Amino acid sequence: MMSAQLKSRAETAPLAARLKARIAREGMISVAAYMDACVADPDAGYYATRHPIGAQGDFITAPEISQIFGELLGLWAVAVWQSMGAPKPVTVAELGPGRGTLMADARRAWRSVPQFLEAVTVALIETSPSLRDVQQEALRGSPAPVQWFDRVEDMPQGPLIVIANEFLDALPVRQLVRRGVHWHERCVAVDRHDAFIFTEGNALQAEELPEAALALDAPDGAILEIRPGAERLMSALAARASEAPLVALFIDYGHDETGFGDTLQAVHNHAYADPLAASGEADLTAHVDFAALKRSAKAHGLDVYGPMPQGAFLLKLGLEARRDRLLAGATPAQRDSILSGAARLTDPRQMGALFKALVLTSDGLAPPPPFGDF
Ligand code: SAH
Repeated sequence: MMSAQLKSRAETAPLAARLKARIAREGMISVAAYMDACVADPDAGYYATRHPIGAQGDFITAPEISQIFGELLGLWAVAVWQSMGAPKPVTVAELGPGRGTLMADARRAWRSVPQFLEAVTVALIETSPSLRDVQQEALRGSPAPVQWFDRVEDMPQGPLIVIANEFLDALPVRQLVRRGVHWHERCVAVDRHDAFIFTEGNALQAEELPEAALALDAPDGAILEIRPGAERLMSALAARASEAPLVALFIDYGHDETGFGDTLQAVHNHAYADPLAASGEADLTAHVDFAALKRSAKAHGLDVYGPMPQGAFLLKLGLEARRDRLLAGATPAQRDSILSGAARLTDPRQMGALFKALVLTSDGLAPPPPFGDF
């Protein structure tokens, strides 16, 4: 057993050193285990130690670009609630709320709908204690009660509306590499120069493979990414959907079809970085496979709408009308930022096409806006 002193020293060592010690002890670790440690290690992981999002952070997200994003999603939640038959109480849960900006903007939009404010409780699913503090500050004086949870499973039962922007891309991916007729786990090891390198584990047995890998005929060297955390989330949402009405919106960047390729990327100071070079100091994400998500949601009995490109989704929710209302009361400097923010969210050359919106509902609910009549 380690002495208390040694243990505490090990726990405060930089993440890279701890991961190298772990690899020396246990051998190579999977890409998923590496990504999990880099992003979510409670002591030294990226989200635990940094304030990553925004102009001062490493990357910027839609709610940080324009208040219109959170306002439209807030009003989307109200329309969904109405289509559920206006249940009271209702929970609006946000997964991975970052700086709390989206929810703060949504909540402002709810001020014009007092019946909704009387019914709603906000649940924030967040694992990072430092981001929880930022969220608490952003939502100070909230007219709706706010509670924090570690996992979807921990929320009380009842009608639920879920919003998740750039949450899924932060969940670790496994990478499988095709060699001949076999798939191998892509792993991280340490080379002679004490640097992390990618390597491959033994061939996986058929029973260790996800269905997607069995069904695909892949060329030699192909990489298939799978996201166990997204699978678990689908199963947790479906379990709730069998008890009470549920509508969940996921907005993220990714592809419509399951494909091959390594999409693991690190972003540091608004620039791409080497995923193996800056463990715990850069944001590590991978593209969302919307086709896999849809398959998993359907297999769990959920209804699926989309994915729809983010630009089309926001325009159908009324982005232009909201933008023009803001412009009417704006100074010339504010005008520029309102216009450029709105364009950045919707322009297909910016976030309008790579980002997509997928909506899942419990069986038998009306199509959610903007997919049904709206
Ligand atoms: N939605 C925000 C932030 C996206 S960054 C925005 O659009 O700005 C990803 C967020 O997910 C962070 O808040 C991070 O702490 C949180 N997160 C990552 N993995 C998580 C997990 N497994 N459970 C809960 N939250 C998680």
